[in-house]
Amino acid sequence: MYFDDYFVTSPEQRERLRITKELADAFAQRAAKYDEDGSFPHENIADLRKSGYVTWTVPKEYGGLEISLQELLLHQEQLARGDGSTALAIGWHVGMILNLRASHAFPDTIFQAICQSVMDTGALINSCASEPATGSPSRGGRPETTATQVDGGYRITGRKTFSTLSPALDWILVTAGIADSDEVGEFIVRGQDVRIVETWNTLGMRATGSHDIVLEDVFVPHSHVVTVKHPKERSLRNNDGGGWMLHIPACYLGVGLAARDFAMNFAATYQPNSLSHPIADVPHIEEKLGQMELKLLSARTLMYDLAARWDASSEADRPRLRPRFGAAKTQATTAAYEVVDLAMRVVGARSLAKGLPLERYYRDVRAGLHNPPMDDIVFKMLAKEGTAPFRK
Ligand SMILES: Cc1cc2nc3c(=O)[nH]c(=O)nc-3n(C[C@H](O)[C@H](O)[C@H](O)COP(=O)(O)OP(=O)(O)OC[C@H]3O[C@@H](n4cnc5c(N)ncnc54)[C@H](O)[C@@H]3O)c2cc1C
Repeated sequence: MYFDDYFVTSPEQRERLRITKELADAFAQRAAKYDEDGSFPHENIADLRKSGYVTWTVPKEYGGLEISLQELLLHQEQLARGDGSTALAIGWHVGMILNLRASHAFPDTIFQAICQSVMDTGALINSCASEPATGSPSRGGRPETTATQVDGGYRITGRKTFSTLSPALDWILVTAGIADSDEVGEFIVRGQDVRIVETWNTLGMRATGSHDIVLEDVFVPHSHVVTVKHPKERSLRNNDGGGWMLHIPACYLGVGLAARDFAMNFAATYQPNSLSHPIADVPHIEEKLGQMELKLLSARTLMYDLAARWDASSEADRPRLRPRFGAAKTQATTAAYEVVDLAMRVVGARSLAKGLPLERYYRDVRAGLHNPPMDDIVFKMLAKEGTAPFRK
């Protein structure tokens, strides 16, 4: 795999990028098998734990490296060059730790306990909010999962869909409507207290383990209740402007980069006997390769620029960046599927072969359209931001 360090800003980052490149190389060897079976990449997760990667966003005060958002994206992109599914799955964990570090959304004692478990045993966390009736939780629907107040805490019953990383989760942030009230709450549930129903069988991102999780009268003590609030109040997790969610565009750009690498190598080495040179020097191929470079360079430049701004911003200023994070996500996911399409046109009919990775990239990048924020929400945010100074 080609080693691209254009967006690296320090020797420490370059050194750590070598670790994630090694991981990505190993994941690339296993990706086709997990994709074919739609099985969960336990071996990859074990490697990520062993390398320490799962601890890198943990705050220094709890023993982690507290890497920056910009550095996190370098690693997520790199991992996705090996296997998009594994990168997307672990991206929720490392991203969420960074989000909790910046937003202070969890009570300190709980966040400390979670970080301790990440440091000690490689424990993993994700947020499971999607449900069949709400669709994307970003639309604001009330969860049908219900929390009923009891002595010492709440009892929660319900079902969540699209629960990425579910086979490996130790901690799950669950949203629930409060029984007999308008309020909704966020609760920290232990992975061992939920039942997984293996529903995930999709076109792309097949190895993310995004199954349904079922909560059957799960007891959550008061100490593990994050918020109980009116539905119009925003989650404290939004305090940081959502920079951590750039792990999503980083993942899809990683898949786009893998497709680019494949097509560049193919074009530079494939010489049919109708030509006296490789196809890389044929004008229509050159144009496609150039277009791929431009799309990736533009999307990556925007994403890394925003990440550096988020890293350098005060906590109060970060929320203002939110519409631009959405822009980076839409630009990246669009670039990723256009780049994969161009790569397949360059390679020709061989690109359809099950034995080559391009057809998997083609399916994986499609999933990016359905990760938040969705394109219509991004365009709306940008339009509102653009018109704000002119409104009376
Ligand atoms: C690979 C992958 C991993 C995921 N991982 C997680 C995870 O770890 N945790 C988690 O909680 N979720 C996860 N999700 C779920 C994701 O966040 C969305 O909830 C899910 O994709 C459903 O979104 P949707 O837009 O298809 O559904 P819906 O919201 O049901 O939308 C369906 C259609 O209706 C339109 N629509 C629906 N409501 C509105 C509205 N109010 N206004 C305008 N248009 C509307 C949409 O534009 C769309 O065209 C994951 C999804 C994928 C694909």
